[in-house]
Amino acid sequence: MTTLQEQYQHLEDTIRAYNPAANFEQIHAAFDFAVSAHEGQFRKDGSPFVTHPLAVAQIVAEELHLDSESIIAALLHDTIEDTAATHADIARLFSPTIADLVEGVSKLTRVQYTSKEEEQMENLRKMLMAMAKDIRVILVKISDRLHNMRTMEYQTPEKQKQKSFETMEIYAPIAHRLGMQKMKWELEDLSLKYLDPVGYREITEVLEEKAAEYEGFMAGVQEQISDRLQEAGVDGIVYGRLKHPYSIYRKMYAQNKRINDVFDLIAFRVIVDTLADCYNVLGIIHDLYHPVLGRFKDYIGTPKPNMYQSLHTTVVGAGGIPFEVQIRTREMHEVAEYGVAAHWKYKQGGQGAGDEKNYEWVRRLLENQEGADAEDFIHSLKVDMFADEVFVFTPLGDVINLPAGATPIDFAYTIHSAVGNHMVAAKVNGRIVQFDYKLKNGDVVEVETSQSAHGPSRDWIKIARSSNARSKIRQWFKRERRDENIVNGRASFEAEVKRCGVSPKELTNEDTLPQVLKKLSYNTLDDLYAAIGYGGVTALKVVGRLREEINQIIRQHQGAAAEQPTEQQPKPAAEPRRAHGEQGIIVEGLSNCLVKFSKCCTPVPGDDIVGFITRGYGVSVHRTDCPNAAPERRRPEEAGRWIKVSWADKTNPFYQTTLEVIAKDRPDLMVDISTVISSTKTQFRGLNARVTPDGSVLVTMNVSVTDAGQLRTVMRRLDQISGVMKVSRPAG
Ligand code: MN
Repeated sequence: MTTLQEQYQHLEDTIRAYNPAANFEQIHAAFDFAVSAHEGQFRKDGSPFVTHPLAVAQIVAEELHLDSESIIAALLHDTIEDTAATHADIARLFSPTIADLVEGVSKLTRVQYTSKEEEQMENLRKMLMAMAKDIRVILVKISDRLHNMRTMEYQTPEKQKQKSFETMEIYAPIAHRLGMQKMKWELEDLSLKYLDPVGYREITEVLEEKAAEYEGFMAGVQEQISDRLQEAGVDGIVYGRLKHPYSIYRKMYAQNKRINDVFDLIAFRVIVDTLADCYNVLGIIHDLYHPVLGRFKDYIGTPKPNMYQSLHTTVVGAGGIPFEVQIRTREMHEVAEYGVAAHWKYKQGGQGAGDEKNYEWVRRLLENQEGADAEDFIHSLKVDMFADEVFVFTPLGDVINLPAGATPIDFAYTIHSAVGNHMVAAKVNGRIVQFDYKLKNGDVVEVETSQSAHGPSRDWIKIARSSNARSKIRQWFKRERRDENIVNGRASFEAEVKRCGVSPKELTNEDTLPQVLKKLSYNTLDDLYAAIGYGGVTALKVVGRLREEINQIIRQHQGAAAEQPTEQQPKPAAEPRRAHGEQGIIVEGLSNCLVKFSKCCTPVPGDDIVGFITRGYGVSVHRTDCPNAAPERRRPEEAGRWIKVSWADKTNPFYQTTLEVIAKDRPDLMVDISTVISSTKTQFRGLNARVTPDGSVLVTMNVSVTDAGQLRTVMRRLDQISGVMKVSRPAG
């Protein structure tokens, strides 16, 4: 039995651990205020009433790590409702914001959930309105409900059932939508305990039994995984747990199974530092245990709407015991456990500027509900919180969310106004559609643009659903920015031409210009500049197409230079000095010079290589088959900068290099790839996968290997994966 003072001290200690700068003076004042306001009130179990707000504040601090204002509001949350204290009192003694928070929580407390659906939902709506005003109101309210559920045993059976039903139907789903899994689970389990005591007892008894039986197994798995992570040099936290009762209950109910037939009761979690490590760990897990087909889910590539990200897989351990493994980064973990609260926390810390965007959907959801019919509203909330939004994919696999009823026009303008303004056709899931096609969740939308597009038509304003698209279309009509485009386009074109060692004038003089324009299919030079300026084509691409003309000019330079008496060439060093190599590289004639590996072709020991003396950054090492090192690409004035380099006898243990895999899109492709990476003792350093317009997947991965031999093995093994069409080392 702890005293009230000890409980309060515990609260302060909890807060201090994550927020030493909290306003303890005011928090203490709030505690004192609550003590005297609730003087003479008692809870059903006989304890002073103030133990309840104190416990709620403890939850707000311990589980959600919220700010001082939230903790004060939690301490005061029942004072307006249940004591003589008023909004004005709290505003005067604490702050108007805190008074508003307390008032907000009180309003929710006053809400009566009757059995009549419409009324119930009308209240729900009020609750959500409060949420829009300040998300902290809902966070304190959920904490309040959690404590009430934890102490529900002292209530009457009717009250237990009623509160549990509300919690299951309203609070747990809200906690889920906000991404607060931990609180959601506890709310569900506590509700289940009163809604179906028999079912609850059956499950918890079996879980307790299994807990003892599985203890050794779980410890073994944890150790096995931890050891392998250490071996692979991956920093990670590994822990296992039995699944929580309600998730098992739901599975039994949905699949009409008895508890002993429920597939997996154990879940492991591996928390690592980087996204690349998530896939490294996946490979390690699949190397250690036999994966169950069809159970892999990549919520990192495709996050859930509540922003949940993780890799899930189910594997079978010793004795045929299956278990689930969830792999995620620390940040993903915080979001998964505490959801919006985690974002709130980051924002408090002042680190996460722009976090608003992450929970912007809460606000948008609420705004869109305004004026909606109460019955319709609850329908959409129960069925789908996101009924007024639609989530679609770009061809690259990015998820774009748009208002419900959005069309390809909205999509195009969301990507970029230049894409919208130059759209000539739209494809959904590979098929051409009309511009007024209504996008559906999961559609892959692709927009075809043309530099000769006429621009948007006036009708588009009526078809578009988003104000963003409409305003961009109007903008286009207001003024086509041709003049501005010409100026910008010209600047990028000239810069790009100069980079090739040619003066822009040489390409645009009277002799060459007609040929250049003809090749690029523009009528005038201004048209070309304008196209570059609005992004219809890049300067790099234009110059690429003019390669022939540029080379011709360069040859003319060389011809002119050859007629001049040549300057003395630097003498090659008589004897290459075989000094110990920097980063495993020996540069002919130079010792201990700065060496770096070019990003374009990422050479590894065993590759044929060549060096380039950069201006101020030492020697950059390329593969001889890298297009950037190709003799015909070398600028004549830089001929003396290309030098011989070779690999030293002793090289570093690891070199980073890039691989590209093109494969048919299929489930578990990433699983197989990460298994190969892991089983060849290679490691991901970076990873990116996207769907190409033709529907295959391009996986670009950064791996660290010892030498070209190991790399060849990795490439051969990757090539053997079913569905893989090409494995290559990108260069250039
Ligand atoms: Mn309360």
